[in-house]
Amino acid sequence: MTETTPSPPPPPPPPPAPAPTASWFAPWSRYGGATLAIICATVCVCAVIAWVTSYLPPTIVWGSWHGALRIAGMGLSEAQFDEYAGAAGGYGAALAGIGSIGDVYHHFLGFAYTGGSAGRLGWFRIIAIPYWFIVLVTAIVPVRWWRRHRRRRRWQTQGRCPGCGYNLTGTPDHCPECGWRHAPAAHL
Ligand SMILES: [Zn+2]
Repeated sequence: MTETTPSPPPPPPPPPAPAPTASWFAPWSRYGGATLAIICATVCVCAVIAWVTSYLPPTIVWGSWHGALRIAGMGLSEAQFDEYAGAAGGYGAALAGIGSIGDVYHHFLGFAYTGGSAGRLGWFRIIAIPYWFIVLVTAIVPVRWWRRHRRRRRWQTQGRCPGCGYNLTGTPDHCPECGWRHAPAAHL
């Protein structure tokens, strides 16, 4: 009688794969997901615009006056304000005139806010945004882009990676530092 070593028990069979559950969203994700997303996004944007404009005054006018953009919201109609502005010598002058009779007036570095009511003009609010501020803010992105563009050009002429400036003497077709690769077809 030979002594046999007990063999280890066989491994348990793997559990059966769960049956695929039908998702009510599956057809949408395949066929109509993009359409649904576009419709929802459009309705969402329209709702946001309607929401914001529901708080705005019935008439909004703007004018340029003494280095600042003046935006006025008022209770009277645009035609009534046009008549007032014509008599006052233009939109900018009319807005400046209203600003001088506001009940409150705050100003700082060219920014200003005034509001109140004035006779037949009814109620109004005016904000003034100085042009130096608009110029400064809108110049940041193009100036940064132009500096980056010039730096890339300079690095390329020096045989360095246009992405990070790494010296590409040993590996001219790619950059081991940032992963940039030379693409001859896209080279302009
Ligand atoms: Zn690089």
